[in-house]
Amino acid sequence: TEELLIQSEKLFAVGQLAASIVHEIRNPLTSLMGFLQLIEHSDGEKNEYLKIMSDELMRIHSITNELLVLAKPQAKKTNRENIPSLLNDVMKLMDSQAIKVGIELVLYSEENVPDIMCDGQQLKQVFINLIKNGIEAMDEKPGKITIRVVRKDHHIILSFTDEGIGMTPEQIKKLGEPFFTTKQKGTGLGMLTTFKIIENHEGNIEIESEVGKGTTIHVILPIQSE
Ligand code: ADP
Ligand code: MG
Repeated sequence: TEELLIQSEKLFAVGQLAASIVHEIRNPLTSLMGFLQLIEHSDGEKNEYLKIMSDELMRIHSITNELLVLAKPQAKKTNRENIPSLLNDVMKLMDSQAIKVGIELVLYSEENVPDIMCDGQQLKQVFINLIKNGIEAMDEKPGKITIRVVRKDHHIILSFTDEGIGMTPEQIKKLGEPFFTTKQKGTGLGMLTTFKIIENHEGNIEIESEVGKGTTIHVILPIQSE
C-alpha cells in the first residue's frame, strides 16, 4: 500500500506539472503547425526538411495530448457506455494501421456485457494506447492482437493479447514510469496515462508477459450497482 500511495502522489505531482506545461506549449505549437502548413502549400518543390519538421511537431503534439489527460484531475464518469461498442469504435480506427503491417485485430466479447458509467473518451484513449503498444511490440511481424471482454461478478475484464517481443520482469516494473520507453520514437507516456485513467475509474491493470512470446494486459473495470 505504501508503494501504491507513493505511486499516486507521483501521479498527482506529474498531473499538476503537466497542466501548467501543456498550457504554455499548446498555443505556440498550434501557430507553428499552422505556419508550417502554409509554407508546405506555397512551396512548389517539395522540401524534405519540411516533412521532418512536420513529423517532429506531430510528435510534440501527441506528447501534449497525453500530458493533457494526466493534467485532468478526474475523469468525468457521467456517461453510460457499452464497453464492447467503445472497443469496436477504436478497432475501426486502428484497423488500417494494423493491416498495413500485417496484423489482424480480433475482438471476442461475451454477450450482454452491462453498460458502465465512465468517461468514454478516456477509455478509448486507453484502448488506443494498448493496441498501439501491441502493434509496436510485434515489430511488423504478421500476427494477431486479440481482445477479449468478459464479465466476472461485479467487474468487466478486458484482455489485450499480442504476439510481440514481450517484457522482462524489470521492464514490467517500470511500466507507467514517466518517460520510460524502449522505443526510438516513443514518448514513454502511454502507460502512465493508461494507469491514471483506469485508476480514475476505480479499476485495475494486471500484466502477464513473456519475452519472445507476447504480452497480455488485463484491464479490470467495476460495474456499478443500479
Ligand atoms: P511508448 O509506447 O511511447 O514507449 P508506453 O508508456 O506506452 O510508451 O510504453 C512504455 C514501454 O513499455 C515501451 O517502450 C515498451 O518497452 C513497454 N511496453 C508497453 N507495452 C508493451 C507490449 N505490449 N509489449 C512489449 N513491451 C511493451
Ligand atoms: Mg505506447
